[in-house]
Amino acid sequence: MPLLDSFGRVHTNLRISVTDRCNIRCFYCMPADNVQFMNRRELLTFEEIERFVRISVPLGLRKIRLTGGEPLVRRDLHRLVEKLAAIPEIEDIGLTTNGILLAEQAQELFDAGLRRINVSLDALDPVKFEKITRRTGYEKVIEGIQSAQRVGFDPVKVNAVAVRGLTEDEVAPFGRFARETGVEIRFIEFMPLDADNNWGRDKVLFKHEILEILTREIMPLVPMSEQDPHAPASEFQFVDGVGRIGIIASVSEPFCMSCDRFRITADGKLRNCLFSLEETDVKAMLRDNAADAEIARAIRESIAVKKEGHEINTARFVQPDRPMHSIGG
Ligand code: SAM
Ligand code: SF4
Repeated sequence: MPLLDSFGRVHTNLRISVTDRCNIRCFYCMPADNVQFMNRRELLTFEEIERFVRISVPLGLRKIRLTGGEPLVRRDLHRLVEKLAAIPEIEDIGLTTNGILLAEQAQELFDAGLRRINVSLDALDPVKFEKITRRTGYEKVIEGIQSAQRVGFDPVKVNAVAVRGLTEDEVAPFGRFARETGVEIRFIEFMPLDADNNWGRDKVLFKHEILEILTREIMPLVPMSEQDPHAPASEFQFVDGVGRIGIIASVSEPFCMSCDRFRITADGKLRNCLFSLEETDVKAMLRDNAADAEIARAIRESIAVKKEGHEINTARFVQPDRPMHSIGG
């Protein structure tokens, strides 16, 4: 039996957060200072993560993405990749990183079996990068993207959060960057997962506006003909065939009804949605020597009660207590 919820959605895709720590402080994800990080003993070990994945595989798990916090601050992450890549049913392992430590780890991650990388970079202007991340490191991110391409990662994608009043000027430069480098740029509408609780719809730069800017300043785009129905991004190409753009329109065009994802936080809490208000404590089960069947039952029960959608666009919406870095994006 696949991992089904009450709306008939099948769950094959797991996001694993390996840490809530980070070496920068993006305003839409973390507070600027005084972050209370999880105690290191609270983090799942790579062996515990592997066990959770092996229990999920017979339930239909096929795709994994490693995330955080910043996953590369666990400097031996390649050891986890190696363990997961050895599970034959796992068809796809991806990583989302801010890229700061990527140049030094790209080769060992590739050798461990990782092939897909998303690097988050919201601005090609270094001054704006520092304003958003509240840290330095722009050059290292660019170096990280270049190393990933050189080592052979395919695809290399860049994630850029789209924020009204802040990143409009970055849209066209990113469009040109996509055309020049072959990297796909994925714009992500700013979602209410910031630690400062400052999100508002008026701060979201919407999909249709991003497309308008690209069309006006570069040239029109056409939708890609083959699109994965479960992928959150709508994919486009410039009409001359050079340069790919993805847009994750989580706010203006929610894609909850095609969602196939579930998540485990760095401290071992299972979440059936990025915006869940409830969690299942898998770490306690793993550490109490619960049987595989008992953990599998807990996974099924969590997915079964998944809500229809995130409700960001309704008055009922409640922002989760955990900001993005602590959930795992
Ligand atoms: N540290 C890694 C990174 O930045 O790529 C991985 C974790 S980060 C939470 C994963 C992705 O979530 C990043 O691409 C980041 O830009 C995105 N993200 C974080 N907070 C967001 C928010 N409030 N709205 C939209 N995207 C967000
Ligand atoms: Fe760190 Fe990624 Fe969050 Fe930025 S988005 S603060 S890089 S975890």
